[in-house]
Amino acid sequence: MKANEFSLLASELGLTAYGPRLCGVVDGWPLTVYNTRLTHVQFVADRKKDRATMRQIEETLKTWGGRVYSWRGNILTLTSPSQKKARGSRAEYISFCAWVMTRAGLKPLDHCPYCGARYCDVAAMIGRNFQLVHLRCLRDAADKARDKAENNSHNGNYLLGTLGAILGMIVGTIPTLLTVYFMSIESSLLFALIPICIYLGYKFFGGKMNRSALFLSVVLSIAAVFLLDFEIVVLIFMDEYGASFGEAMRALPDVFQDGTFWAEIAMNSLQEYLFTGLGLMIAWRLISTTDAGSADELAAALRMARNYSREESNN
Ligand SMILES: [Zn+2]
Repeated sequence: MKANEFSLLASELGLTAYGPRLCGVVDGWPLTVYNTRLTHVQFVADRKKDRATMRQIEETLKTWGGRVYSWRGNILTLTSPSQKKARGSRAEYISFCAWVMTRAGLKPLDHCPYCGARYCDVAAMIGRNFQLVHLRCLRDAADKARDKAENNSHNGNYLLGTLGAILGMIVGTIPTLLTVYFMSIESSLLFALIPICIYLGYKFFGGKMNRSALFLSVVLSIAAVFLLDFEIVVLIFMDEYGASFGEAMRALPDVFQDGTFWAEIAMNSLQEYLFTGLGLMIAWRLISTTDAGSADELAAALRMARNYSREESNN
């Protein structure tokens, strides 16, 4: 969907943009619209999938060329027809989807994700779903997350974090060393574990969760790959020549003078760094979704929470 189409849709239905998604309440239904190639409309319903309801929804949607994309747990995702088949505008189709949901006897899930009780009074983005929640519970969760993030930024300790990260680095290299030693296989994929273990070590030892965590992960990962390559050379040497560790170490200067050795290392480490990079991306996601990340997310959810009254729904 193009950007202008996206904002037109938002204004037509009174939806709010939230990253690549639009959310709001349409005909009593809190819903999320995805800005993907096929527009997905997502609802959180009061029931899990059952065949009869599913069939009914599919049949009604079909009259507009739409279909059920998925129904997992309480989350129903409907896809809109291609523009050619559409009987009306996208906004009309989305209203139609809400109507189809109601017609199938479904209601928005009225079950607070925090306390589990009913009679939710707002609709807000919880995780990836725009759904009903108690304003009070959402506010509590946002306050707690903010306190936790603030606590970490005051009491987080770089020194302990770094110690944890170094221990994590050692742990992260063990699987690679073991596979090389026992199976003579070098799997670059295992290198992805290194940054993840470094990050977990940093976090576990109470390191301050901010960009320095990422910086440290990058530096230690590069060092780990370098050291690991060195250790692998020693292991291979011991294996191939039946040498002892001491002999292997003494032979290293000769090995290092060999040009082909360095070419091989360079070729190998390219792949290794690729997977290490993958691990770093995963670690960065973990860093940005914990504490400060979720505090920001919850604060945004709170800002964008919409009042929801039972009269607004058709039930
Ligand atoms: Zn609640």
